[in-house]
Amino acid sequence: MPVTSMSTSWSRPVPRHIVCLTFDFDTQSGFIARGMTTPTPLSRGEFGLIGARRILALLKSRGIRATWFIPGFTIESHPRACDAVVTDGHEVAHHSWAHVPPAQQSRADEEADLVRANEAIARLTGRKARGYRSPSWDLSEHTVDLLLAHGFLYDSSLMGGDYWPYQARRGDRVELGKPFGFGDETALIEMPISWSLDDHPHFEFVRTAAMVLPGLQSARTVMENWFDEFRYMQRTVEWGVLTYTMHPYVIGRGYRMLALEDFVTKLAAAGAVFMTMEDAAAEAQAKMFAT
Ligand SMILES: [Zn+2]
Repeated sequence: MPVTSMSTSWSRPVPRHIVCLTFDFDTQSGFIARGMTTPTPLSRGEFGLIGARRILALLKSRGIRATWFIPGFTIESHPRACDAVVTDGHEVAHHSWAHVPPAQQSRADEEADLVRANEAIARLTGRKARGYRSPSWDLSEHTVDLLLAHGFLYDSSLMGGDYWPYQARRGDRVELGKPFGFGDETALIEMPISWSLDDHPHFEFVRTAAMVLPGLQSARTVMENWFDEFRYMQRTVEWGVLTYTMHPYVIGRGYRMLALEDFVTKLAAAGAVFMTMEDAAAEAQAKMFAT
């Protein structure tokens, strides 16, 4: 329930509960990065092109601007699909070029990938990305420094919070058998995420030689949980940002789209303020550094 007050308007700030709908437009890139290059896994990623059209239609019908994290691979492989994202006024943010997690790259390779994908984004949108999300959510020890050096406002790959964005740190000290040492806070705004608020682990059946991820949960049950997360944010903070992460090839299935439509309707009715992650990060930055 929204926070209400019997007192006059000066006594409390107006509650504001922001929701960022974010879409990682991976298409085939994640499968290729994992070496899954036979026709069926590739086609699974290709389905994201159909899913993206459905999502764009839903967002347009509700007047919602979202953030699309698009790998350079998708921009260069599927230019028309990416043009449609830009035409509809959504934010395009950075999601690597080839969907290789930074934690698996050398510093030089990570920076080269960062630059290459940012150039693809600049060609697509007319400007470089303001936000970054790492493939498979695994930053390297260099990522924060590289993002700052390349002019990023925010990252969305860490899990150290839920409703409050925070300052990403550099140089945390970690050694087995010793206490944790916090590094220095930086100017990079962290927009926290969670696997629990990501469609992929709930829905996708993944079978490899090493593991089986069952997925295939009820879309409506998952979105009930997602809505409860919003309700808890409303109950516990006056101002907050909640980020949901989805993938067009996952959420774009018909029955999941129906659940997503109803979920967005419920969020709107409950007072959610939808905005791009860039706008939400800017609002968070203003609050963090207000004197
Ligand atoms: Zn991804």
